[in-house]
Amino acid sequence: MIVVLKENPNPRQLENLIQWLKSLNLDVHISSGSQQTVLGLVGDTTSVDIDLVRALDIVADVKRIQEPYKKANRRFHPQDTIIQIAEGISIGGGNFQMIAGPCSVESPEQICEVAKAVKASGASILRGGAFKPRTSPYAFQGMHAEGIKLLLEAKAETGMPIITEIMDIGQLELFGEVDIIQVGARNMQNFELLKHLGRTGKPILLKRGLANTYQELLMSAEYIMSGGNEQIILCERGIRTFETFTRNTLDIAAVPVLKELSHLPVVIDPSHALGIARFVPTMAVAAVAAGCDGLMIEVHNDPPHAKCDGPQSIRPEAFDVLAKRVKAMRQLVTSLEG
Ligand code: PEP
Ligand code: MN
Repeated sequence: MIVVLKENPNPRQLENLIQWLKSLNLDVHISSGSQQTVLGLVGDTTSVDIDLVRALDIVADVKRIQEPYKKANRRFHPQDTIIQIAEGISIGGGNFQMIAGPCSVESPEQICEVAKAVKASGASILRGGAFKPRTSPYAFQGMHAEGIKLLLEAKAETGMPIITEIMDIGQLELFGEVDIIQVGARNMQNFELLKHLGRTGKPILLKRGLANTYQELLMSAEYIMSGGNEQIILCERGIRTFETFTRNTLDIAAVPVLKELSHLPVVIDPSHALGIARFVPTMAVAAVAAGCDGLMIEVHNDPPHAKCDGPQSIRPEAFDVLAKRVKAMRQLVTSLEG
């Protein structure tokens, strides 16, 4: 249920209302915008007399909402969420960031070379997997703790904040200096992992599962948010369809739909969606045209010899061209919005 307040509500009456709602065992989520204050009520609202609340002096409107996600819901929180990743780097609410780097960290030289190259082209956040969810148990599983150590060295050398994937909560102690924790598509509904991440204070990039709906993605975000961590970045990375030419099908509609349903930033990962490097730049530009808040792009200095996802990894030179096109499209989108 949401309670929309009139402009400049009397503070004492507002406090009384909040205390009364809390006494009904409801969590009251207050969202104060420049124009309007909205109270989002989370919990069992069946005992709330909607007409009584509507009749209060300070209340403009009361609405029961159908969606099971509350904290991720834009109705509760009309303003875009802006997530601060590092000094001067935030995402959401008009702040756009490019995340780039290899699928997996493979060596000190590889991660540092790619980091420097993508930074020079305009990427602001470095990616690199240390724990890899591979379909085959015989495939490269990542460098684990050593991979995170190498990412941290690249961070120290370039100043770029880093993002890497967690697969199990037992790995969390290694993530102390990681700036964004990634939850991969395969773990989107690992609810125990999500609950634990809800108790961390770190931004989480939550990837949409291979066969999950928008609502399921938002419910997974809700798991993390209900634990107290509201810094979630949603990521569309392609879904399974009948098409087999591309690795997955990039659902660009996820951008406007998720941004309407939720206030959380939305990032597009065209690399895992397409699975074919030459299509990645086009779809990156398309995602920007659709209004995404960021991109995640796999970049490798030697794709044919990559230990993971070489076919979809673009070279640093191709990333440089992509970044220029993205910049041009961002300018166009911003000018159209303005
Ligand atoms: C990745 O980003 O390297 C990855 C494994 O992605 P996804 O979970 O989307 O497959
Ligand atoms: Mn990958």
